[in-house]
Amino acid sequence: MPASNSSNNTADTSIIDGTALAAKVTADVATKVAALKARGVTPGLTVVLVGEDPASAVYVGSKERTCIELGMHGETIRRPATITQDELLGIVDRLNDDPAIHGILVQMPLPKQINPDAIVRRIRPDKDVDGFHPVNVGKLLIGEKDGFAPCTPAGVLYMLEASGVKTAGADCVIVGRSNIVGKPMSSLMVQPGVDATVTVCHSRTRDLAAHTRRADILIVAAGRAQMITGELVKPGAVVIDVGMNRIPDSTKKSGTRLVGDVAFDEVRQVASRITPVPGGVGKMTIAMLMSNTVRAAAQQTQHETQ
Ligand code: NAP
Repeated sequence: MPASNSSNNTADTSIIDGTALAAKVTADVATKVAALKARGVTPGLTVVLVGEDPASAVYVGSKERTCIELGMHGETIRRPATITQDELLGIVDRLNDDPAIHGILVQMPLPKQINPDAIVRRIRPDKDVDGFHPVNVGKLLIGEKDGFAPCTPAGVLYMLEASGVKTAGADCVIVGRSNIVGKPMSSLMVQPGVDATVTVCHSRTRDLAAHTRRADILIVAAGRAQMITGELVKPGAVVIDVGMNRIPDSTKKSGTRLVGDVAFDEVRQVASRITPVPGGVGKMTIAMLMSNTVRAAAQQTQHETQ
């Protein structure tokens, strides 16, 4: 059960602040970067961006900026959407062999002519800081700590733990079963030490509400704007909103605004703790990427002489 369930005042909702928690993670990363630099290692992350997708360009830009702010080596390789699969594999091979690059991330989605699985499988598992290589997926499932967990679910677990949410024995319901969020989230929550009892829901789930209403911890990653309303949430539950959806909003200059998969204003009246969108899970993802990269650098260089 969530730590804060002891309170009967369920309207006294507490926001889990992704911006503050991400700052804590990046401060810790900066300390580790300094320690690695002191022994001559500058952690390096290369992001490969194919095509002109504006959302991908924004994500990639902030990854590179954050690397540089933390004293790491961050670079982006940009290629046109016409690149062939062999050319892209060649870039991955070169980065795999480059000792100055400890983390490799190929930004998804990729153009149609490229099989994303072939690209992910080509990245050296110890440089796969996105945690999507089958070796890292397997390590996550069996609980081996030297692999890399995907950044978004790893960020969610960090948020729960750093907020003092008791996960042991809690009924954790995850809405969404994607390979990047829902499935790895379920692997993390069920590990010994975390000890939640996990249910994973998806579009074929019968009676979604029956599951969400009994969740002590409800993690939503469905990509459906504001689908989780107050009546779907158990009073006192901890609600983590992974969703990022743009909906029309004529009051905004852009004509849209960002919302999660949770109807925040009504669910916060029912939940004990809740993450906002923006300012919640999204902030954690890049922080966890930096954390994975600095660990990759430490693991790859641990046998080097000082
Ligand atoms: P996805 O690949 O589209 O997966 C969505 C999952 O939700 C699928 O498993 C789908 O079920 C399930 N689903 C969809 N509608 C449902 C419904 N009505 N009832 C129950 N389950 C339903 O999406 P994703 O990549 O996991 O991303 C999910 C959301 O998180 C998106 O809004 C995305 O933008 C956001 N996201 C945020 C971050 C971040 O950094 N904050 C990172 C990644 C993703 P089926 O499998 O049956 O189709």
